[in-house]
Amino acid sequence: MTGAQPPSAWAAGLKLRCPQCGQGALFSGYLKFRDTCAACGADFKAADAGDGPAVFVILIVGAIVAPLLIILQFGLELPGWMALTITMVAAIALCLALLPPFKAVLFAFQWKHKAREATHADIE
Ligand SMILES: [Zn+2]
Repeated sequence: MTGAQPPSAWAAGLKLRCPQCGQGALFSGYLKFRDTCAACGADFKAADAGDGPAVFVILIVGAIVAPLLIILQFGLELPGWMALTITMVAAIALCLALLPPFKAVLFAFQWKHKAREATHADIE
């Protein structure tokens, strides 16, 4: 795909693909970036989305599971232990499912906008 238009950050991120070419896999493990893209050779060694993905995932999952707990306990009148167990399992499953795509999308936006850590050279 040399010379082709780079994919949108959303498309590349949600598919967990390289933000440069949109083809190569971004992750080598659950949340570990590859060193380079297998398709185009883009260098991911400096990739660091920091705490950003976790912040978004916590906000979204919290907005889902907090009302879920209230509905289960007070709407359906399940026993407290059962409502809490269902809510905890839902929270853990949602966090694990959402972390990779959020990390990939945030990294794709960093890549697109060439965001990086500021250094002393930036203020001189
Ligand atoms: Zn690539």
